[in-house]
Amino acid sequence: MFSIESLNKLQEWFAKLPGIGPKSAARLAYHVIEMDPEEVKQFAQDMYKARLAVKYCRICGNLTDHETCSICEDATRDQSTVCVVKDARDVMALERVREFHGVYHVLGGTISPLDGVGPDDIRVKELLGRVKEGNIKELILATNPDVQGEATAVYIAKLMEPFDVKVTRIAHGVPVGGELEYTDEVTLMKSLEGRRQF
Ligand SMILES: [Zn+2]
Repeated sequence: MFSIESLNKLQEWFAKLPGIGPKSAARLAYHVIEMDPEEVKQFAQDMYKARLAVKYCRICGNLTDHETCSICEDATRDQSTVCVVKDARDVMALERVREFHGVYHVLGGTISPLDGVGPDDIRVKELLGRVKEGNIKELILATNPDVQGEATAVYIAKLMEPFDVKVTRIAHGVPVGGELEYTDEVTLMKSLEGRRQF
């Protein structure tokens, strides 16, 4: 069979990326081969630089290339209202709506016993730490409305019972089994507005 080793290798790398099937991987690999070599070099360097530079905000767990993210740093935002989400992509989705003026807490996953993910594997302890500091008035649980998201929301709501903090859950405008990341802006806005006390 005809094959070119370095091209195959490239294809294999692309195929490891999420959402890229073998056909797309081949198309991307061929595209890279046709790009200007300088551009390819820049692309590879930027990829590496981004990997090294981007880290987790020490307060909320969102992605940042500083110690704390620009949302936590923003004095105009309401630091007492915290929206709890699964990952940094959910922050991006909610930020696109421009309706939420509080801050976030990124869990970095959801509780899923079947996959061996327990509360200690996500940033629940850190959330508890923030609540214990006493400056948080409301926690909006905005994990996805799927089994894991619901289980995580219930777990956190129970955990917060001893504390003087209002716990709400986003309304089910977000389709059941759906993901925040892929939900349109109007639906996200409505689900925030229609949140209910847990
Ligand atoms: Zn932050």
